[in-house]
Amino acid sequence: MNAGIVTVSYIAASVLFILSLGGLSNQESARRGNLYGVIGMAIAILFTLFTPKMGGLELLVPVMLVGAAIGAVVAARVQMTAMPQLVAGFHSFVGLAAVLVGIANYLDTSIVYATRVERVIHEAEIFIGVFIGGLTFTGSIIAFGKLQGIIGSKPLAIPGRHGINFSMILFSIYLGGLFVGATPEHSQLMPLMVMTLVSFVLGAHLVMAIGGADMPVVVSMLNSYSGWAAAATGFMLSNDVLIVVGSLVGSSGAILSYIMCRAMARSFISVILGGFGVEAGTVVASSSAEQGTVTPITNDETAALLRESKSVIIIPGYGMAVAQAQHPVYEMTKFLRDRGCNVRFAIHPVAGRLPGHMNVLLAEAKVPYDIVLEMDEINEDFPSTDVAIVLGANDIVNPGAQDDPSSPIYGMPVLECWKAGTVIVSKRSMASGYSGVDNPLFYKDNTRMLFGDAKKTVEAVLAAVKQ
Ligand code: NDP
Repeated sequence: MNAGIVTVSYIAASVLFILSLGGLSNQESARRGNLYGVIGMAIAILFTLFTPKMGGLELLVPVMLVGAAIGAVVAARVQMTAMPQLVAGFHSFVGLAAVLVGIANYLDTSIVYATRVERVIHEAEIFIGVFIGGLTFTGSIIAFGKLQGIIGSKPLAIPGRHGINFSMILFSIYLGGLFVGATPEHSQLMPLMVMTLVSFVLGAHLVMAIGGADMPVVVSMLNSYSGWAAAATGFMLSNDVLIVVGSLVGSSGAILSYIMCRAMARSFISVILGGFGVEAGTVVASSSAEQGTVTPITNDETAALLRESKSVIIIPGYGMAVAQAQHPVYEMTKFLRDRGCNVRFAIHPVAGRLPGHMNVLLAEAKVPYDIVLEMDEINEDFPSTDVAIVLGANDIVNPGAQDDPSSPIYGMPVLECWKAGTVIVSKRSMASGYSGVDNPLFYKDNTRMLFGDAKKTVEAVLAAVKQ
């Protein structure tokens, strides 16, 4: 196929990717944004297959079909709660691909350089691409293991770990000096391979040093790394669409990480360096906040309270996702709204286990977007709200994050539900949430604990409200 047509198709794909990102920034347009992304990727893959340099289609096409089939089955089967692991797993493939493409590119003796400068630039691209790819590969595998519970979520705090990381980076730079521009051409495979091993160790060590509660930011950072690895691969292969896509993923991942860091009161720079937020040897522990008496409430009592309420804010969390309670909770919302009650949902930026987790579940249950509000939009409304229902959420409503400096999540912005008239907390037990911290909310005077599985509880309360 004519190279000009391929270039035009790449420009079209790039525009579609940009439109896709724009669409994903808003719930109403998210489906359309996703579709743009799918079409853009289909165009990019299709036209790449017909680039003048492309050969071996008889091998490539069947392999791609097998890969696409496996990807489709895995994605269709995965539970929403396991999505972060899946994303981390996919990032590891991007990282590994960057490593393999980089090494293969270096070994490709058919590449002829017009000048030495051109060769130096190309070898630098290979070196940087392999380095970022290596970090992303092992870092993503460790993140997958931590999220899946195969590896303990406790941070690994080796003494002097920052020094170790820094030494590995310096050693990689030294290896880069040996590798780039060495003569004769293609003779310096050893520094490249050693650096690959160093980047594997560095990626694993950086993520091992990060505690479980900070894993969302890590997954988002790895998303960014995988984008930069893809962009570096694009430079290596002189593939424009890969450079554009890689840069979009790299920068949007970095921006998302920054936003999440702010939502969790973390320092962005220290996330990139790894081992942030937790002192060496510290284990995330229960807060020393006051404990007291827990006041349970029954389904019937909850129903009676809701019947008399004029305003209700529902705060969904990870437990709603586990119980799949989004459908009955929307049934209840509709019923209460029909009775004139102002029911809204409050979404914390890190509720659940992946960014946008709650929005996806509520959209699936067809909850109208205009009653789903972000934390900053609704936090001021709690004092004028009759009832706040905390549905399978815990860390995101922990007042200790605001008033207990000894709490490991101190400084994280939270939904101030305790300012509502009554807080009903629906969960199965007194167990802590993801960060393993006790929650003083459960002992407040205006808090009532509604024990049980979120879905069964909401169904029972709905039945009682309707009576
Ligand atoms: P939490 O993990 O803090 O709390 C969830 C609560 O749900 C638990 O205390 C649990 O209590 C309850 N629960 C579990 N299953 C059920 C069920 N079937 N029915 C009713 N309740 C149930 O979740 P939050 O959403 O409040 O906070 C998210 C946490 O996850 C934060 O710490 C965040 O940093 C972290 N995180 C966020 C990610 C993201 O990107 N959003 C990614 C990874 C981690 P019990 O066992 O008693 O029922």
